[in-house]
Amino acid sequence: MRQLDEMLSSEAVTLVRVLEQIRREGPISQIEIGQRLGLGRAAINIHVKKLQAQQIIIPVGSNDDQAMGRPRVLLDLNREGKAVLGISLDAPRLSGAIMDFSNRIIHEQTINVGDVSDFASLEVYVLQLVKNLSLKADQAGMDLYSACFAVPGVLEPGTGRVVNYVNMPAANGLDVKELINRLLGIPAYVVPLGAALYWGGLEANQNEQSIFHVIWDMGVGMMFGRGYEIGLKRYTKYDVMSVTGGLRDIGHATLHPNGKLCSCGRRGCLEAYLGGMAITHKWNERHQRTALSFNQLIALAEKGEPRAIEMFSRNAKRLGQKLGWMFTVHQPQYIKLSGQIPDAVKQVRSAFWEGVQSHIGENNTTKFDYVGDAHSLGLVGSCRLALHVRFNKPLLEIVSDDNAYEMSHVCLSMG
Ligand SMILES: [Zn+2]
Repeated sequence: MRQLDEMLSSEAVTLVRVLEQIRREGPISQIEIGQRLGLGRAAINIHVKKLQAQQIIIPVGSNDDQAMGRPRVLLDLNREGKAVLGISLDAPRLSGAIMDFSNRIIHEQTINVGDVSDFASLEVYVLQLVKNLSLKADQAGMDLYSACFAVPGVLEPGTGRVVNYVNMPAANGLDVKELINRLLGIPAYVVPLGAALYWGGLEANQNEQSIFHVIWDMGVGMMFGRGYEIGLKRYTKYDVMSVTGGLRDIGHATLHPNGKLCSCGRRGCLEAYLGGMAITHKWNERHQRTALSFNQLIALAEKGEPRAIEMFSRNAKRLGQKLGWMFTVHQPQYIKLSGQIPDAVKQVRSAFWEGVQSHIGENNTTKFDYVGDAHSLGLVGSCRLALHVRFNKPLLEIVSDDNAYEMSHVCLSMG
């Protein structure tokens, strides 16, 4: 994984790691940060200065250990009085949260937007949510630093406007960046929901781990990384031809050449057989009197309908088997599963892992975990990205097509 190694040394990623180290262990000295991350004093100093200039971290006294000569200044997150706003649109739920810099959710709200007919009516809900959450931030005595909107689908490069949200066409045309800029006068960023999911799922200490994160809902997606070294966009942009380049869109890897037609226009994709949409089609073919939507079928399994549970479990095992070859090659330390299907149908979690194990071999040390409610993860990740990308523009370039941040600076200077 050559590209991962390159990213490890990139400035954007180092900045993320420095901040996360302070979040985990602060108050901490610059020397200790350098020791933990294996980086020299000069490299750490550059990043610490950036974070201090933004008042994201502050000095909080010093370490009295005189054995080392002069006392070391200790740094910590600016945990008081500052917050970020994260929003996630995961149809039919529009959710938002206010989070402080140490990852504490101050307030959270969800609105069902399943009834919207176009982006203008969706915009009214977004407006309502943003206003309410900004009021809650005010009441808690917190200044909003930035906002992030996470949405699945295709974004217009340079603006973040939603161009194609497959599962909710009514969202097409939505331009939340402009809306939040106008309303709050803070920078706002639009990112793919997948990026937010990944960021929400990062746990405390995974610098050394290699993680393959499978997302299973209407389609099949996969993200990977070692802790924060995640290059969602970069892989598809610069490395489309290699195995690793295709990982993100694993759902469109070819399973059967000239097989079933896929939503992407090609034939025989993994997703055309094992995505939630495909499973729903199979169900409806067999139970013709009750044509269900994907969400209805999931709800049925969640309620305990044995045939629906069996159907999802069988496909979960197959999915595990089909992805097993890749895990055999790459030997990740962790395989994580998340998404609407494992959220609702808990039986599929072990069925998936059973399928993987049948391919990965007996002597592997790979661990498996169900990540947890994807909806909450997306929201937490959206908040975390709001904080990170504002002072880390190269990171924004890595995770999103939305890189039109200059607009927000114009608004700020006017406000
Ligand atoms: Zn496809």
